[in-house]
Amino acid sequence: VLPVVALVGRPNVGKSTLFNRLTRTRDALVADQPGVTRDRHYGFAVHAGRRYIVIDTGGIGQDDEDIDSQAFAQTRAALEEADVVLFVVDSRQGLLAGDETIAEQLRRIDQPVHVVVNKSEGQVAVSASAEFHALALGDPWAISATHGDRISAVLEHV
Ligand code: GDP
Ligand code: MG
Repeated sequence: VLPVVALVGRPNVGKSTLFNRLTRTRDALVADQPGVTRDRHYGFAVHAGRRYIVIDTGGIGQDDEDIDSQAFAQTRAALEEADVVLFVVDSRQGLLAGDETIAEQLRRIDQPVHVVVNKSEGQVAVSASAEFHALALGDPWAISATHGDRISAVLEHV
């Protein structure tokens, strides 16, 4: 049984971009295997020779106008299946109320949660992530999903 990593967070923080980066190589292999159903929210990934499954919570509740309740539904659904949670936040937007809402749920679960501060390319990692210590979910990890910055360090830690 492969470990399951769920990506949760507000809309537009870069969850799907991170999902695509994590799963890109493995997806190409999966497509060659007959009988493997590909769902756009689930993907295989590999780090340091270890395979894992990534869940992108992006598509759940997309019709919901209320961003906070949308984020709530996304988080709840992903948490049911996850062994580990990557809580994605946006360094450009900073810490918002929607992040706090999600963090409240994540502080209550048993699985490990890692805060990843996305869109931090061109910034000093420590300053990009500083304000997110307030989420009380451990040391935040500054990354860039589009540039690939520091993602392998996060995976190593996870
Ligand atoms: P999601 O709604 O959380 O799945 O977010 P998306 O992956 O759809 O990304 C939302 C927007 O943020 C898109 O325009 C992405 O190109 C952009 N984005 C994602 N990751 C990064 C990043 O690391 N840096 C920057 N500058 N933009 C990013
Ligand atoms: Mg998405």
